[in-house]
Amino acid sequence: MTTITADINNVSNETSSQKKKIPLKGMMNNVMEQFYSAADHIEIHPNIRKILSITNNEIMVSFPVKMDNGEVEIFTGYRVQHNNALGPYKGGLRYHPTVDIDAARALAMWMTWKTSLAGLPYGGAKGGIQLDPSKYSQSELERITRRFTFALADNIGPEHDIPAPDVNTNSQTMAWIADTYMSTRPPAERSANQHVVTGKPDGSGGLEGRDRATGYGVFLNIKFWAEKNNKSLIGKKFIVQGFGNVGYWASHFMEKEGAKLVAVQDASGSIRSTNGIDVEDLYNYAKVNMGSISGFHGAFDLDNEKFFATECDICIPAALGNQITKENASIIKADLIAEGANGPTSVEGEKILLNKGKTILPDILCNSGGVVGSYFEWLQNRNGELWHLDEVMAKLDKKIRESFNKVYQYAENEGLDLRTAAYCIAIRRIEKAYIQRGIFP
Ligand code: NAD
Repeated sequence: MTTITADINNVSNETSSQKKKIPLKGMMNNVMEQFYSAADHIEIHPNIRKILSITNNEIMVSFPVKMDNGEVEIFTGYRVQHNNALGPYKGGLRYHPTVDIDAARALAMWMTWKTSLAGLPYGGAKGGIQLDPSKYSQSELERITRRFTFALADNIGPEHDIPAPDVNTNSQTMAWIADTYMSTRPPAERSANQHVVTGKPDGSGGLEGRDRATGYGVFLNIKFWAEKNNKSLIGKKFIVQGFGNVGYWASHFMEKEGAKLVAVQDASGSIRSTNGIDVEDLYNYAKVNMGSISGFHGAFDLDNEKFFATECDICIPAALGNQITKENASIIKADLIAEGANGPTSVEGEKILLNKGKTILPDILCNSGGVVGSYFEWLQNRNGELWHLDEVMAKLDKKIRESFNKVYQYAENEGLDLRTAAYCIAIRRIEKAYIQRGIFP
């Protein structure tokens, strides 16, 4: 295991100038640019700027796993813990070929802003394993997950760092992690540790409604935006990139409200139908088609490059980061971009969209229903309670409405776009905690 621990008492003056010397790439560049722009706006304390510019801990583990054919394969897993000023680290685990230290760093930072904006007692972390899960059997994925959990050891924990599902991980993955973590504790501690992860299955400490929490939050943000602008969602056309947990549930609630799904893209390709794609039919089709939408009978195939150019009112990117960039932002027809994914829009892509008068509901607000749902699950486990679905949905509604109103109001008052406004609120809360507490020793 390699652990790099940043000493926040000894952050050199290099940090703020690093961005000038070392050009950052991809999502890391986006998250830092977004941070600096908000930090400049609120004139953040220079020491807090230094602290938040770096990640606290970066854990990289390599571990062997026995494959079904008897051979051993070595995997590399990551966990980056950005900041824990407000509480234990919190964030998902992703299984994807694009997982590396830079992706984990950027995604961990976004989690810090997200949990802070939502007013939760959490910091930010992210991690995962660089692999293509479609190449492994279910039993291989179970052994990979359990061995990764064992390798992470005490770097995660219910009061220290609490993972959750992300791309290509789900409630089953979380159940394996919880079971492995609990099985490797001393006997008296085992059952008290199930909140080491959230997003577990119902019946294994999971929260009713956690599965739909992120997509529901995306839908609520769109609905609240429509209300503010005196618009109805009935008959509005929307497109969704990514038809996994977030994309499906967001589409489900949009369709229920009367909106029409007209195009979908996933890792296998793109489909469109001007008459509308039935969300449940597509979901049932994908379920028996290895999770993929390709070949769905209720729509036509669409070239991947033409997906974002589809005529529509609302665009929901709910797949990976850096999907809307300077190369394709100008072809987007939608007036509203609701970021279900983390970091789907690059800084240059965002400038093009904003210049064209479009609105972006930023990821740290728009997809925060997931981490709010995770917080409810964590509380439920910690307090030995069981919450019902209607209770969970009502609490989510209240929390997301509060966050939305806070960001919308701040943006109006300060004349800012919604992302910068969301960042300003999030960063201010962390700054306040540091200033009240001081820096040890
Ligand atoms: P998922 O694994 O359930 O689904 C991912 C979807 O994206 C799949 O349909 C996949 O085919 C598609 N996809 C992958 N690569 C693609 C590509 N190159 N082009 C188009 N589509 C592609 O993952 P998820 O949990 O739905 O997460 C989706 C996004 O939402 C991620 O950015 C994740 O970080 C973010 N997010 C998830 C949660 C959560 O609770 N699951 C919470 C907040 C944010």
